[in-house]
Amino acid sequence: MKGVAEEIIKSKFCIALTGAGISTESGIPDFRSKNGLWNRYDINEYGYLQSFLKNPEKVWKMLAEMAELFEKAKPNPAHYALAELEKLGLLKAVITQNVDGLHQEAGNKKVIEFHGSFNTLTCLNCGKKYSKEEISLKNLPRCTCNGILKPDIVFFGEPIPTKALNEALELANKSDLILVIGTSCAVYPAAELPIIVKRNGGKIIEINREESELSYLADYKLLGKAGEILPKLVEEVKKLMKIKER
Ligand code: NAD
Repeated sequence: MKGVAEEIIKSKFCIALTGAGISTESGIPDFRSKNGLWNRYDINEYGYLQSFLKNPEKVWKMLAEMAELFEKAKPNPAHYALAELEKLGLLKAVITQNVDGLHQEAGNKKVIEFHGSFNTLTCLNCGKKYSKEEISLKNLPRCTCNGILKPDIVFFGEPIPTKALNEALELANKSDLILVIGTSCAVYPAAELPIIVKRNGGKIIEINREESELSYLADYKLLGKAGEILPKLVEEVKKLMKIKER
């Protein structure tokens, strides 16, 4: 923990890549764990853009369940710890694969939503945009033109939104330290970001309940719950900063 805190303090451009695991302690299941969504919803039938286009009513059952969870969820200590690191000037950005908006709610200002957001929906027929507050998400929502509304989240088979992709690549290329938190690192190109940092001579700190597909590249591994590890890490950082100030 102390070694990781020191790395954060001495880094010049520390960023974080987060995944579904950072929000499980807020009551939102991840995808690949035992209780994950993919154990209840077949990834091939629910996860692809083609699945949604072929049978939107069916896929909406999963999306409505996600929407309800997002509505109830509040940031947990892991989200707040990252917001505090940003306030301390030590974390330059959070690149998240999550679509729940919890980093922003916790207070992080620089958040790249790599896989889009559930806060807005777009009509697949006329392109009109809606905020989620404007419509009921219980059943498959439709536009005034009767077109189907799709949440602005990235399904498998869809490209990463260009602005988010470019910003994330730029941040990763500048970074000398990346905190990789609550992600299985199984989804590309998101999992490419720590590899870029490492390739440029930077370091990877992994915080996860178990080893991920990129654990073999990590310089430090803190295995356990993000909601317990991150607040302790921030306390350690603050303690060391005070000692250095003296
Ligand atoms: P994933 O399900 O593949 O992996 C989650 C990882 O987090 C696992 O390695 C798991 O062990 C770990 N984890 C679970 N709880 C944890 C905790 N409390 N502390 C630390 N680690 C914990 O998720 P992924 O890598 O993000 O990729 C799946 C995709 O799922 C992403 O694209 C994301 O958009 C989407 N997703 C998002 C949400 C959300 O917005 N909250 C929820 C489910 C899925």
